Amino acid sequence: MSLSQLAQSISESPTLKLNETAALLRDRGEPVIHLGGGEPKSRTPIDAIISCASLLNTGEVRYTPADGIPALKKAVIRYTEEHYARQVRPENVIVSSGAKQAIMVALYAILDPHDEVVFPAPYWVSYPEMVKLAGGVPVVAKPQDGSFTPTMDDIAQVVGPSTKAIIINSPNNPSGVMYPESLIAEIVAFCEKKDIWLLMDDTYNRLVFDGRKPVNCYEYAGDLSDSSKLVVINCVSKMYAMTGFRIGWAIGNRDLVRAMTNIQSQQTSGPAAPSQWAAVGALNGIQNSIEALRATLENNRNVLVSRLSAIPGVKVAKPDGTFYTFPDFSAYEKSSQKLAQFLLDKVRVVTVPGKEFGMEGHLRVSFCGTLREIKEGVERIQWALDPNAPSELYLGTRRLVRDWL
Ligand code: PMP
Repeated sequence: MSLSQLAQSISESPTLKLNETAALLRDRGEPVIHLGGGEPKSRTPIDAIISCASLLNTGEVRYTPADGIPALKKAVIRYTEEHYARQVRPENVIVSSGAKQAIMVALYAILDPHDEVVFPAPYWVSYPEMVKLAGGVPVVAKPQDGSFTPTMDDIAQVVGPSTKAIIINSPNNPSGVMYPESLIAEIVAFCEKKDIWLLMDDTYNRLVFDGRKPVNCYEYAGDLSDSSKLVVINCVSKMYAMTGFRIGWAIGNRDLVRAMTNIQSQQTSGPAAPSQWAAVGALNGIQNSIEALRATLENNRNVLVSRLSAIPGVKVAKPDGTFYTFPDFSAYEKSSQKLAQFLLDKVRVVTVPGKEFGMEGHLRVSFCGTLREIKEGVERIQWALDPNAPSELYLGTRRLVRDWL
């Protein structure tokens, strides 16, 4: 094999692969229910479409500055003022092709070979591979109490002289858990004291339930100067249901943003111009789509959690935000990969194995689809696992007989 060691060490994104598997099965006419997805089903906000279309109508779609068009940076600055009560300058903002690229170029900008990056489990699937791509070493902080929320001690215990950064994602993909404000405050203070970078992945910051308020990490920062190592990442992907546009951004100190811009300019140049204009439209336009999505997701969560809890032996924690639950199915099967494959093979329900997120025995089950999909998906899962369920099930007109319990 003549591929690089790096290429051989990086695995495919399991969530994107599942999307492909689900699409292939659907093309073959299989009645697939996709509960493994990571994108809301609502439509792109109209203001985003209008703004994007006005650029396309000019017929002049050109390169943009590597760190984003001024209009989008301005919209991001305004967003940061409104939602984080923080004044930043254009030099503190870089727009990237999704939150994914923003995190990736940040890692390239701060990591030397073998530097360690700490993040708590369960974690977003891409963090370990992204850290490796940038030459670093991923280090997982496992909550000692087996919950989805680490303590400061759990994190501090794996921080050592090689630790260059900590990544925090709250509300969390895959658990839906929102870390307590007190923990965020401790982490911000800890990173300042240790002089390490803190990447706050706020992708789901505003998709929170039960009257919770999004947490603003800047409130706990002692150092708000331009040498702060706090970096906040956001995107239009989830809150505006604009995953396909690929627009995210990072707010950080000027030197970092300059370095990230240099890297991005050599890597992909600025994000696609039509997508940037769409994001300008979304950020500056009417904002009611976010609340509508949030309320829909909260209702979906309630239905999913109540149905999943009705399956004997399944332990499910109620998510505080996002559109993911991370139930424990280990009473049925300890290997999450085996279980996810089994559910796909037998009842055509797509879920994501917990192993990919650093926690065996769990499956990530999304609630960003329709209520019909959620209800039918859980009904099929229960049918496949629960020996007390009736022995036959209909997928449309196809009759299934359970012969494995
Ligand atoms: N961070 C987290 C925690 C995510 O779940 C995702 C998307 N699944 C991203 C970042 C990447 O977002 P984007 O699509 O904007 O690249």
